[in-house]
Amino acid sequence: MSSPPKEEAAKPGNFLRAVIDRDLAEGNYAGRHFAGTPGDASHHRAGAVDVAKIRTRFPPEPNGYLHVGHAKSIWLNFSLAAEYGGVCHLRFDDTNPEKEEQEYVDAIVEMVHWLGYDWQANGVNHLYYASNYFDFMYRAAEALVEAGHAYVDEQSADQMRANRGDFNTPGTPSPFRERSPAQNLARLREMRDGQHADGAMVLRAKIDMASPNINLRDPALYRIKRATHHNTGDAWCIYPMYTYAHPLEDALEGITHSICTLEFEDQRPFYDWVLERLADLGLLARPLPKQYEFARLNLTYIVTSKRKLRQMVEEGIVDGWDDPRLPTLVGMRRRGYTPESLRLLAERSGVSKAGGWIDYSSLDIALREDLDAKAPRAMAVLEPLKLVLSNWDQVIGKGQTLPCTAAMLPGRNDDAMRHFTLGPEVWIEREDFMEEPLKGYHRLSPPRFDGHGARIEGSIVRLKYGYVIQCTGLKKNFDGTIAEVQARLIPDTRSGTPGADAVKTKGVLTWVAAHDALPAEVRLYDRLFTEAQPDAAGRDFKSCLNPGSKKTVTAWLEPSVARARGDDKFQFERHGYFVADRVDHAEARPVFNRITPLKETWAR
Ligand code: ATP
Ligand code: MG
Repeated sequence: MSSPPKEEAAKPGNFLRAVIDRDLAEGNYAGRHFAGTPGDASHHRAGAVDVAKIRTRFPPEPNGYLHVGHAKSIWLNFSLAAEYGGVCHLRFDDTNPEKEEQEYVDAIVEMVHWLGYDWQANGVNHLYYASNYFDFMYRAAEALVEAGHAYVDEQSADQMRANRGDFNTPGTPSPFRERSPAQNLARLREMRDGQHADGAMVLRAKIDMASPNINLRDPALYRIKRATHHNTGDAWCIYPMYTYAHPLEDALEGITHSICTLEFEDQRPFYDWVLERLADLGLLARPLPKQYEFARLNLTYIVTSKRKLRQMVEEGIVDGWDDPRLPTLVGMRRRGYTPESLRLLAERSGVSKAGGWIDYSSLDIALREDLDAKAPRAMAVLEPLKLVLSNWDQVIGKGQTLPCTAAMLPGRNDDAMRHFTLGPEVWIEREDFMEEPLKGYHRLSPPRFDGHGARIEGSIVRLKYGYVIQCTGLKKNFDGTIAEVQARLIPDTRSGTPGADAVKTKGVLTWVAAHDALPAEVRLYDRLFTEAQPDAAGRDFKSCLNPGSKKTVTAWLEPSVARARGDDKFQFERHGYFVADRVDHAEARPVFNRITPLKETWAR
């Protein structure tokens, strides 16, 4: 037997693949019909055999912006469908009338597309709204009532809570539990017709008040709530509960594998219960969807709770939903994270039942892997110090500049080159000069005398892609700060010419020439929190904000980035990966964000 290809072997665990492999091998969904639109049993029966081998869905509630955790769910559902010849639906789970808004619907559509996924398949646009199923959900509720599987409970919310019991105590049946189907149906219709006040009664499933699973102790199916819904307006004054609505949505859409996070595990018995009842009553088509739970993605150094994200935006801790420090997808896109890096993170974090924390650095590792072969290189000086080349006129010529070239993408076999010039004045990094160099410092330092009065020559370094220089001195301001560093060119050491290596150097400096450098605002972003689990164990996440999470500097950039457009990404040599800010960047006023440094620098 041959061994599996290396990539296969390296794939992290994903137990859902095993589930789907088994379902396909056993033909559990073979011959299933799909009518091209969502619908009940008779609707699908009249349709053709489904060309999709499996169906999954991503079902966000349009009540906020998507975050990195959602990216995992999006990746999981869309990539499993693609891998197995299936289809993934985008479904807005908009059954809750109060919090949902069009703004979020639009943002979600945009971000799922941005991540690289689409819901058009086999000539069908699989974008759905759960609120379009309200008619069916109500019809199903009446059917459950008529079959004796549901009843209207007029107990107060407090009574209901008290009678539910707890882990050790079985529940107490409601005094309304044994009313006849006809009585319950009449009551349900009154609820629907607006004859009762909000909260006066609820429709409950009639299952088992003694079940060890509290979710099976007659869960609520419908509540009265006078609220205007963004899609159905005031057509309804009763709304289905999420736990009732969700399985029905899946079944109407012919979903085979309904994937959710672990907190819904205890709901699975009810999910199956309600679908089985409705299939028995002839309302829903078999085979029915099955629910599978996986551990949510937890990334260190971020918070993803909608409430906490909102708080940070509203209190001005960050600069809006797309602040590049936030783990919202709009924020991460603006920061410069790529769809590829997010998909890599999702894949590598594995799909299992065991929760855990993924270190934030995994995301940066994925980003570097993605951009290494894609992001053009450029030099940039983030903390500038002026370097004057005193013998320029003699070696190069007065008024002359020296053309330099470097590869756009080193290591790739093409000839895409960057062009810039060296001149008599150059910007270097402040940290590349030390007046009193520490031991082992190989960058610029001036000539000086040692403790015994012996002269030490100025250090010799190479200006990358340029010339070898030797430090000759420095000039200070009145306040003692360094005004400029001085050096001389060493003749015949121009990079790329024969003999360029004749003078050995230990240090290589990045630089940009003062005469053609591009000024830019560069935003140096870092983690928002100083703690790996900012909101763990009841801690107030605001108590561990990183005060240095955003630093803005005025930098000098290599002129080759002058035509960058918003979202263009670069590797600034030695500094890391940067992106032209998609909101604020303009050719006349460049603004770049640091996505991540080249190496992990976070202090542990
Ligand atoms: P949050 O509670 O984080 O605000 P949510 O669960 O309320 O998110 P939904 O719109 O209900 O947001 O989620 C849509 C889908 O994304 C659900 O299937 C949910 O399970 C999934 N999801 C949300 N957060 C994560 C996460 N951290 N990891 C994986 N999947 C997630
Ligand atoms: Mg949720």
